[in-house]
Amino acid sequence: MPVSTEPSAAAAAALADFEALRRQDPELAEILSGELNRQSDSLQLIAAENFTSPAVLAALGSALANKYAEGYPGARHHGGCELVDVAERIAVDRAKALFGAEHANVQPHSGSSAVLAAYAALLRPGDTVLAMGLPHGGHLTHGSPANFSGRWFDFVGYGVDADSGLIDHEQVRALARTHKPKAIVCGSISYPRHIDYAAFRAIADDVGAYLIADAAHPIGLVAGGAAPNPVPYADVVCATTHKVLRGPRGGLILCGEDLAERIDRAVFPFTQGGAQMHTIAAKAVAFGEAATPGYTAYAHQVVANAKVLADCLAGEGFHLTTGGTDTHLIAADPAPLDADARTARGLLAGAGIVLDTCALPYGGAVYVGVGDARGLRLGTAALTTQGMREAEMARIAGLFSAALREDGGERAVRVREEVRDLARRFPPYPDR
Ligand SMILES: *Cc1c(COP(=O)(O)O)cnc(C)c1O
Repeated sequence: MPVSTEPSAAAAAALADFEALRRQDPELAEILSGELNRQSDSLQLIAAENFTSPAVLAALGSALANKYAEGYPGARHHGGCELVDVAERIAVDRAKALFGAEHANVQPHSGSSAVLAAYAALLRPGDTVLAMGLPHGGHLTHGSPANFSGRWFDFVGYGVDADSGLIDHEQVRALARTHKPKAIVCGSISYPRHIDYAAFRAIADDVGAYLIADAAHPIGLVAGGAAPNPVPYADVVCATTHKVLRGPRGGLILCGEDLAERIDRAVFPFTQGGAQMHTIAAKAVAFGEAATPGYTAYAHQVVANAKVLADCLAGEGFHLTTGGTDTHLIAADPAPLDADARTARGLLAGAGIVLDTCALPYGGAVYVGVGDARGLRLGTAALTTQGMREAEMARIAGLFSAALREDGGERAVRVREEVRDLARRFPPYPDR
């Protein structure tokens, strides 16, 4: 059946109709608009968050949300996939071009699903895997006992140097030689420095292991040329599309032709069912945006902002892991300000500064233990999308220490108002 792509009346009136939702379900509509207000009136420093464009949101709220599409373009288990096949091919081609990869799978529902599929493609239950230990910045999928990874594989954790906070490649090599892992994972949720993919490749080759780069955080910087690209070094690169990359919530896998079929089968049918075609279309839109000079400038500004914010926070007395950052991400110990991380996160949230706590690998020189969230993890991806630059970063660092020193009274109200004024000068969706 020939398919018309002429704009329909429904599309012209926008399928995602907020007024219809408000009439039909005011309770939920109020939550949706309240959340937009919260995001617009406070400062989002959660390192994994960003503001997607209205174009990405349009794809997410489109008729593709209705479509079932198990399988891959040209080989689906459902009828009517003519147009969604084209959308997925566009997403795949744009991802391959953006990252210089031979193969891309754009179907993983999340970063964790991407990692699950990578393990499923390369490993058998019980295999040994070497990854960054969780207290040092590894992700749940890097061997947490609470996650499938820790249950099904035998994980060995490497760490960072106690003094420098940097990855200790000699330790990684020694552990690899001792444990002979089937795969080595490089990538972290809180490591603020570039990963030396060539060094990991050499270690993996030394022991005959696969190298999996979990680039969920830096992949958006890679797209903008502001961080090294793992694709030439890793056998498989896992990523998210919703962090610095600024696309819809989802996952992505990149690999060479040699592993393409195994990766595709590991995603569907091994670990997932029907592809989410609205999200895949939104990924295509985001990859298109990320290929523009404007995005390249954005990615570099994200890093420039993080460097200034890091310097200014250090100036306010925070102790920074590795002493600073190469990326969008900062891990800070608030202890020198007489604040523990959980209390600090609460005080900052009260002031409208939203961020995470994270594990810190060492307390002074003494390792303290798993699950100890003594650090604050923050990032500049969302603030930079709003158009904030170096001057705003310096101001935000000042607001950090003001919020931690506030007395719960008038001073707290003043800090909250200053944060709101700053946020409102940089609306994430200026035309709304
Ligand atoms: C964010 C992240 C993930 C998981 O992404 P989800 O979409 O939350 O499942 C995996 N690995 C690393 C290193 C991450 O930073």
